[in-house]
Amino acid sequence: MKIDQMRLELVEFMPSALEPGVLYVSKKYHTAAHLCACGCGEKIRTQLGPLGWQFTNGRQGPSLYPSIGNWQKPCRSHYYIKRGFVVWALALTEAEVLYGRREEIRRRDAYFREQSLGYWARLTRWWNARR
Ligand SMILES: [Zn+2]
Repeated sequence: MKIDQMRLELVEFMPSALEPGVLYVSKKYHTAAHLCACGCGEKIRTQLGPLGWQFTNGRQGPSLYPSIGNWQKPCRSHYYIKRGFVVWALALTEAEVLYGRREEIRRRDAYFREQSLGYWARLTRWWNARR
C-alpha cells in the first residue's frame, strides 16, 4: 500500500523494525531511515548533512531534500518527503530518460562546439598562412 504521509520520530539508534509512514532521524549519527513509500517494505537509509540529504522539520512535518530515488531497489520509486507528505515524482525510468537526454544534448553541444572551433582554427590558420 502506498504511503502518502510521513511523521517524524527522533531516535538515537535506528530501530531494527521500521514502521511504515515514519521517518526515523538520528541527529547524533546524521542518518534517516524509513520504509519505502511505495509499500514494498524496503528500508531506505539516507545520510544527512552537506554531502547527503537536507533534513528540516516544520510544524506540518518533516522534509528531506533532494528527492528519494530508490534506483537500487526493485520498485525504483522516486518521491519527495515534503512537510510530512510523500510527493511522488517522475517514475525513475522516465527521470533517467530525461537525464540521459540532457546529458546527450550537453555532450553533443560540446562536441559541435569543439568541431566548429576546430573549423575556425583551421580556417584562421589557412588564412594567416596565405598572407
Ligand atoms: Zn518501494
